[in-house]
Amino acid sequence: MQAASDPALEQAVREIGRELHAALPSRPRHPVRALDDKAMELASRDAELRAALFRLVDVTPACRSLDDLAGHLAGYLEEVDGRSQSLDAAMRAARSAAGRRALGAAAATGVRHMAHRFIVGDSPQAALGVLRRLWDAGAASSVDLLGEATVTSAEADRYATRCHEALETLAAATRSWPEQPALEADSVGPLPRVNLSVKVSALTPLMRPEAPEVGREDAAGRMRPLLLRARELHAHLHIDMESLDALETTLDLVGELLEEDELRDGPSAGVVLQAYLRESPEQLERLLDWAGQSPRQPPLTVRLVKGAYWDHEVVEARQHGWKPPVFELKAESDRNFEQLTRRLLDARPAVRVAVASHNLRSVAHAIAYNRLAGGEDRDLELQVLRGLGDDLQHALADQGLRVRAYCPVGDLVAGMAYLVRRLLENTSNDSFLGEMGRGTPIEELLAAP
Ligand SMILES: Cc1cc2nc3c(=O)[nH]c(=O)nc-3n(C[C@H](O)[C@H](O)[C@H](O)COP(=O)(O)OP(=O)(O)OC[C@H]3O[C@@H](n4cnc5c(N)ncnc54)[C@H](O)[C@@H]3O)c2cc1C
Repeated sequence: MQAASDPALEQAVREIGRELHAALPSRPRHPVRALDDKAMELASRDAELRAALFRLVDVTPACRSLDDLAGHLAGYLEEVDGRSQSLDAAMRAARSAAGRRALGAAAATGVRHMAHRFIVGDSPQAALGVLRRLWDAGAASSVDLLGEATVTSAEADRYATRCHEALETLAAATRSWPEQPALEADSVGPLPRVNLSVKVSALTPLMRPEAPEVGREDAAGRMRPLLLRARELHAHLHIDMESLDALETTLDLVGELLEEDELRDGPSAGVVLQAYLRESPEQLERLLDWAGQSPRQPPLTVRLVKGAYWDHEVVEARQHGWKPPVFELKAESDRNFEQLTRRLLDARPAVRVAVASHNLRSVAHAIAYNRLAGGEDRDLELQVLRGLGDDLQHALADQGLRVRAYCPVGDLVAGMAYLVRRLLENTSNDSFLGEMGRGTPIEELLAAP
């Protein structure tokens, strides 16, 4: 493995990063998207406005009328200091019944627009148009059925049924799609057109850190048939990673299931590694040991992310008086992400590698290291979230790189937790997208973390 400070690697990272950056703003923006960007930009500058926006998004599905929604909005805005003229005008409007209806309608439209930016349809069938347009634009997709933690067995059964239906719908529809050689094979072999991301916590109501085997067995009962059907349909099943309390259960469950005789030779499957976890280097070594001892064809895909539950992990640890399991400086997560990228790329073909990030530096580093190590571009997959990484996705696809967009599907209510996490990510001061939005010079953005 090359050292982090290798000058040739640094130079290649900057060149690739500049090229990608130059390709970003060339595409005209949809007017709704530009409005959303404005709202995000305002929210990222003002913590109180950000809190008001999140609370509004959170309460929207529960509001019974436009009047009710406008009342909530006015209440939240009241807490914002130094309101702009337009926010003051909104609050004045909320004083009359007609004004409240108009304001409520505007707020509901705004939340719906924001949701549609991240959520591609309320069912797999409804999402097919977007997925096909992505494919035609040179991007593969992974569908994620929204609906977070499951509380009853009936909910877990319903989620499993929705996953089965999604596999059938996607398999039937994608069969007739035109060939896209860059998206359909790497040097190991074919890559499935259908890719579904699933969450273990949605497959069982029994996930408890104090009795992991109970949740594992219950989830296995629903995941095994899913894996078997994915194998028959030549689909890929990716197991998302959630907060730390689910990590051991998730990795043990996947490891055990994929070692079963009927699942050894497929389907294509994957797990997620979170670089913000201090213990992620050890977790990766465990994964690689497993991949070495249980060679699979096709190999396990590892999606490397930084991790979406940073605030949750920090708050939870502080409540217990523990040291947080996550790095507390953003640069530490970024540095670890790069180190894990290099380790993963070096471990091929025992695993397939997917690097999921919107950070130009992190992405350019993966592309540069792969090339310098003699790897082919098609042996590195780059992944973005729909709505956050659209521009980057186009820039990567235009360069012939393999890119996949993670596409949440489901209704607004089920998508609320997802939506709030993405808003948090998009408006946080530390985030790469936040920095880029504030106009930080590209050379600074591409500097080694
Ligand atoms: C296709 C795709 C799939 C994903 N799947 C998952 C998944 O299964 N599970 C999951 O957890 N996440 C998942 N994510 C989300 C991912 O973990 C990140 O939250 C998101 O991509 C932002 O990281 P970035 O590299 O794009 O941006 P950056 O702005 O470079 O990084 C932001 C990230 O840095 C970390 N961070 C922020 N502040 C600090 C701090 N003070 N100290 C240390 N670290 C900090 C956090 O992880 C934060 O999300 C996925 C992302 C993508 C693109």
